[in-house]
Amino acid sequence: MTVFTPRPGLEFLSPDEIRSVQEELLRRHVTYAATASPYYRELFAHQGIDPATVTLESLKSLPLTDKSVFSSRNSEFLAVPREAIVDIVLSSGTTGQPTTVMYTESDLHRLTYNEEISFASCGLTASDTVLLTCTIDRCFIAGLAYYSGVRKLGAAAIRNGLASVESHGEIIRRLRPSVLVGVPTFLLKLGRHLLSQGTDPQSVGVRKLVCIGEPVRDRSLAFLKAGEELEFIWGAKVYSTYASSETITSFCECTAQCGGHLHPDLAVVEIVDEQGCPLPCGEVGEVVVTPLGIEGMPLVRFRTGDTGFLLDGPCLCGRNSVRLGPILGRMRQMMKLKGTTIYPESIYAVMDTIPGVSEYFVTASSDYDLSDQVRVYVAVNDGSCSEGVILERLQAALRVRPEVIITSEETVNRWRNAGNSRKLIRFIDERK
Ligand SMILES: [Zn+2]
Repeated sequence: MTVFTPRPGLEFLSPDEIRSVQEELLRRHVTYAATASPYYRELFAHQGIDPATVTLESLKSLPLTDKSVFSSRNSEFLAVPREAIVDIVLSSGTTGQPTTVMYTESDLHRLTYNEEISFASCGLTASDTVLLTCTIDRCFIAGLAYYSGVRKLGAAAIRNGLASVESHGEIIRRLRPSVLVGVPTFLLKLGRHLLSQGTDPQSVGVRKLVCIGEPVRDRSLAFLKAGEELEFIWGAKVYSTYASSETITSFCECTAQCGGHLHPDLAVVEIVDEQGCPLPCGEVGEVVVTPLGIEGMPLVRFRTGDTGFLLDGPCLCGRNSVRLGPILGRMRQMMKLKGTTIYPESIYAVMDTIPGVSEYFVTASSDYDLSDQVRVYVAVNDGSCSEGVILERLQAALRVRPEVIITSEETVNRWRNAGNSRKLIRFIDERK
């Protein structure tokens, strides 16, 4: 058994002090995984790994764990007797089959602490009232995490869940939350709904928006169109937070808004290339997380499948912990076009800035192994926005030219609304 011990304020110490505490926590975590987790016990014994000698430097020599092995050997990751489990969730697997993630009481305390310090870092206090527009049930962990963090902070939570914009609009008018937590495209829809009802979103007292599930910034940390519009329509500060249910670790932007802080008592984060080799700070690759102090299903070097980059150096907020930049895409959505790697998100970032583009979606198919066929279906609301103009902008930013097809707004919307998710569909992957 292991119990997570929070180290509040660790991230404000010097980088050397952080490193030394983190190394000790890492060694303890890896030793626990090697002892209590049947999966890691077998793996480390087989590879002759002595957990007592693991350092932050030698961590990179340990094997990576990906979602497919976590899914196929799921029960072997459980490191505690089943009676110690208090919450069970499902995370989206790689094959469409959901994977089970089990938490102990200590894991839920850790989760609560993580969200408490994350919300505090973007300026939330006990006097805030927070409207949660995400589900707290349905076998998801995110909503419960936000709710627990808000409570621990002493702020007030309004759990209106996956309700309609009409319902959230009514709640906002009646209860006047100061903070909204939700998917950016939904928060935008909510703001537009209030406007259509004659209520100016800037007048209702919302001062912060915590965005989940979709990035709001690009590679240079500048706002994507959705982030910019959100600040404009709500007159509120926009913060981004990123997490995954397997690693039970979230990275939330601080008031300086330049990347999501790693809380060093909660995890070690690395960025690796396609072969799994660690990349230096600033380079883009897959986000790999080793969450520290997890009791139920401990993980070592977990490949999240998301691509991003790290930022180091002291932050304006006074923290000295490394920051995770915006998520730039999903590894499995990575496309190879004439030898160049692109992600759907890099196409969105360009499309969102072209005047006259109203709606669009991207498809990927594969004709042969080495190159993908990438098409962008676009509806335009301005005659001057032609295929040539769009191609030119895409080529300038991506250095390759996907195919551009101008079509009707009706066609684009039919595709974009095809799923039953709160997020609009922007990418259709037809590759084998
Ligand atoms: Zn900061």
